[in-house]
Amino acid sequence: MKIEAISPRVWKLRSWLIIPITVWAVVDEEGLTLVDAGIGPMAGGILRFIADTGLPLKQIVLTHGHSDHTGALNKLLDAFPVPVYAHRDEIPYMEGRLPYPRRKKAAAVVAAGAVRSLETDADGRLLPIGGLVPYHTPGHSPGHVAYFEPEAAVLLAGDLFTSKRGAVRRPMPAFTADMAEAVRSSEIVDRLRPARLEVCHSGPVFDPAGQMPAYREAELRRLGVRNAKVGIFDQK
Ligand SMILES: [Zn+2]
Ligand SMILES: [Zn+2]
Repeated sequence: MKIEAISPRVWKLRSWLIIPITVWAVVDEEGLTLVDAGIGPMAGGILRFIADTGLPLKQIVLTHGHSDHTGALNKLLDAFPVPVYAHRDEIPYMEGRLPYPRRKKAAAVVAAGAVRSLETDADGRLLPIGGLVPYHTPGHSPGHVAYFEPEAAVLLAGDLFTSKRGAVRRPMPAFTADMAEAVRSSEIVDRLRPARLEVCHSGPVFDPAGQMPAYREAELRRLGVRNAKVGIFDQK
């Protein structure tokens, strides 16, 4: 597993299974927060990394519930029984109560009740957690969330995108529930204007906001969406 500090508060832990698989670790005053839980074989490396930091693991937050983001979860929880959070809309799929959109079968990746809903304010906005601000960015999955680290302006975007040689690309079509919605959710990048965009399965994109209008136009045209102009992302 490759470990890299990408900003003063964010580490990137990366392994490979045909494609790269990424977990991020974020430090704040309270300790360490993991973003996603990778694949099962990453558990040992993640646990060693946590031990090496000497920091307490406070919680695990998930971008979404696909098995390449939750595979090491149970082993991590055996060692550290910390709370795990995901967007409320993602939990029924993770618990196997509903099949993911475009999937035939429901499959439980966690035990019922093991994952809590990210907390919200009275307006339904997701509350900061572990030094990160979560944003609901549905499309790749119904409850997909991107996490923003405001100090270094790093956006941990899970499977909202892939990338190629510094350019944003759409998420993997075979695993994406609603591509048009995923493309529209990219408006979070226009709004936050991160210095660095991180995605789970490919390399970083620096200053990605400038790429967004062309990305959306090309992808919505490819999908046959007639009016490719979309309104400013309606944050929930
Ligand atoms: Zn995914
Ligand atoms: Zn993935």
